[in-house]
Amino acid sequence: MKGLMRLILKNHSHSPFHLQLEVLEGRVPPQHSSFNKYEKTLYQERSGYFGERALDYPFRKIQFPHFVTHHTRLEVNHLNFQMDTNLWTPRYDLIIEAKDYTGHISLRDGFNQIIQQKDVNGQMVTNVYDDPVLQVEEQKLQLELWLETQGMPVLPIETLVVMTNPRVILDATPNSLYQEKVIPLSKLASKLREINQHYTHEHLTLAETRRLASYVASQHKPWKPNVFQRLGIGPGEIRRGVRCPSCRTLPMKWERLRFECSACGMRSADAYVGALKEFFLLFGDQITNRQFRWWTGVGSESTAKKQLRRSGFNRVGDKRTAIYKLNFNYDEDFDEFVRWKQADKFRKRALIF
Ligand SMILES: [Zn+2]
Repeated sequence: MKGLMRLILKNHSHSPFHLQLEVLEGRVPPQHSSFNKYEKTLYQERSGYFGERALDYPFRKIQFPHFVTHHTRLEVNHLNFQMDTNLWTPRYDLIIEAKDYTGHISLRDGFNQIIQQKDVNGQMVTNVYDDPVLQVEEQKLQLELWLETQGMPVLPIETLVVMTNPRVILDATPNSLYQEKVIPLSKLASKLREINQHYTHEHLTLAETRRLASYVASQHKPWKPNVFQRLGIGPGEIRRGVRCPSCRTLPMKWERLRFECSACGMRSADAYVGALKEFFLLFGDQITNRQFRWWTGVGSESTAKKQLRRSGFNRVGDKRTAIYKLNFNYDEDFDEFVRWKQADKFRKRALIF
């Protein structure tokens, strides 16, 4: 790490669970009893993801050597805990919980929750979320326990909650732990310098620190719960169909050998690839001809067969029992699902500022 101040050992990634929630966008009927739960869960996942990304810039300004791991989920005593961002230094470790909340955020001593009030289309909406300070302090205890059970060195661990959205108004009880631990993104660089000055004793060498951070990154366990069970939605209750690659509207119609979007007019012969990816995320890595037709709305068995063959996936069994093995890669094949959201988000921000 000669001349290099920072090394990212594990970059941002989307949990399979977050991707599943993205796939369900536009597919959960608004009248479904779990619709609100779905929207809130999606909002929290996105808030975590975008929040984490927003840390990149202030991190680049840090003038002391450190290693970074993003979005790490570890297991201790059969329980999992997840950390948004960790900074590893020879003197201390820092866990950062990032939140991309907007609106007015109240943090009151003794309530162990945060209250968000925000304007949604001219209406004030109130949401209640778990206390992020409590969350990150809990992560600290878990991490200490985990490091101990792994036989890894346990350094002093610092925690911070960073509110990354520039449109957030923070309102914390004066002189409370909240005021000390919850900061806006604009204060992160100075807060990091402050923490860094506080710890003077080096517990590890730089090489040992790197080994520790690499080990943590290697032990990441992606979160893959059953999204249907978690939300209380049946697979048969969601809207099916091929999503338009251009405007994301559902469903495209298969007509004259291509899919057509009724909203933006986009035509595409291979939009089914996106549909296969979405199927993979929701239902797993195997698909039959019948399932393909059920999911995409393609009526003809031979058309479905052609498309499945063209997708190039391995086929096991023959004729009616044929199963196609979808071998998409979580780290490489799904960026577009969230990148699209991000572009949209930044467009919206650009309009506001
Ligand atoms: Zn479209």
